[in-house]
Amino acid sequence: MEPKKKVKVSVEPLLAIIKQNKLQVDTKKVRRAFEYAEEAHRGQKRKSGEPYIMHPLSVAMTLADLGLDESTILAGLLHDVPEDTMRTLIDVRKEFGSDVGTLVEGITKLGKLKYRGMERYVENLRKMFIAMAADIRTIFIKFADRIHNLQTLDALPEKKQKRIAEETLNIYAPIANRLGVNILKDILEDLAFQKAYPKEYEQVRVLLETGQKERDKCYMHLHKGVTEALVEQKIEIISFYGRTKQAYSLYRKLKQHKNNPNKIFDLLAMRVIVPTIQDCYAALGVINSNYRPLPGRMKDYIAQPKPNGYQSLHTTVLCDKSIVEFQIRTPEMHQQAEYGIAAHWFYDEDGERIPDKDLNWVKELAKWQAEIKNEKKYLESLKIDVFQNRIFVFTPQGDVIDLPEDSTPVDFAYAIHSEIGDKCSRAKVNSQLVKLDHKLQSGDVAEIIVEKNRKGPNPNWLKFVKTNQAKTRIRANAPKPVWEQVISGVGQKLSKRKK
Ligand code: MN
Repeated sequence: MEPKKKVKVSVEPLLAIIKQNKLQVDTKKVRRAFEYAEEAHRGQKRKSGEPYIMHPLSVAMTLADLGLDESTILAGLLHDVPEDTMRTLIDVRKEFGSDVGTLVEGITKLGKLKYRGMERYVENLRKMFIAMAADIRTIFIKFADRIHNLQTLDALPEKKQKRIAEETLNIYAPIANRLGVNILKDILEDLAFQKAYPKEYEQVRVLLETGQKERDKCYMHLHKGVTEALVEQKIEIISFYGRTKQAYSLYRKLKQHKNNPNKIFDLLAMRVIVPTIQDCYAALGVINSNYRPLPGRMKDYIAQPKPNGYQSLHTTVLCDKSIVEFQIRTPEMHQQAEYGIAAHWFYDEDGERIPDKDLNWVKELAKWQAEIKNEKKYLESLKIDVFQNRIFVFTPQGDVIDLPEDSTPVDFAYAIHSEIGDKCSRAKVNSQLVKLDHKLQSGDVAEIIVEKNRKGPNPNWLKFVKTNQAKTRIRANAPKPVWEQVISGVGQKLSKRKK
């Protein structure tokens, strides 16, 4: 028998991407990090049977595709070293410097966050994910890591596949969306949707496929016709393209419309970008007079922007049997629509208000998002410090509770449930009994011990609780001090006597 041929994994494909994207990256360092990781993971295999190094290599390739910087690419190669090999974080730091070390450390921390399908904690988990990342580059590495894990998901048991896929749809993709990294959002959703809901994915895929030829025809027809008409009217076209709806977002829309695909008008959207607002209205006129607009489907989001700031003119026209939506906007409006992440944090896709009041940090996020766009270098120095006033505390089940700084076990108890707050008698933090006015720290695991027969909260708690939720509830439910009971008793007697 011939000896099994050893597959040698090479760093060359990564170097090729770096070269192709003209990245300012020291290829010697990349080789060194690759060899370091390869040696550390040697003998380890992925569940798929591949040599483990394939995974960090693929992660680094995604990061290079995105045009990220040297430290991020190196950290991508090294991201699983401290967790899974004999080499420690200190070793990595010593060998590759503190910037790379900090990124790898961030990834290791993020690995500890798990989504268990609890809807009410999803928003906290998203926030915590960002808070723990500390450096936005860590989030990119985590996304690249998740993409490769999704691509190789088949090797895992089905239950685990589903958990990872759902976590991607509920935590990762929304964060990518809000960060304005739409390419990543689309990749994550596409990969995860298949695994989380295979039947539904298949339905949507078939639906998209059956209409594809038709849509292509429409696209060609409308693109040609509208271009000619606009040129004739001397309206400058900055950009004009078609966009098919993503499978996952089509699926969500279908759910809203009781699975009736005829209710969905934007399977194919045509985007027309023209220089000025005046041009937008002129273009709308041109389109409406050349094609038959569907009544009631015209929308002027320029005069009346959506609550999230979205602006465009929409009109829906018939093209054979298909319905096509035109979105007409200026480059500034387009920018807002694509990257207006402040909007995305506050409102969902359809402009509905998300019922979460405490989102100030999100405005900060929006600010630095705008800065990233202006200056790529900014990425390197970017630190997330918008969470200075928030802490994140775990329940023993691993759910995350978002609290203001200096919160106590009583605040924590009320954040879980008002009954638990009212009846809380003692608390454990990281398995140690603590006083009820103990100041919680981010990352603590807190446990509340309730006393079933307790009458209500202790009014003295008002001296140390931080959240309004706790304060209001304690004021309302605390047993009245003795003198108040006496007075009200006297009052009752008096009123009885009057009768
Ligand atoms: Mn990994």
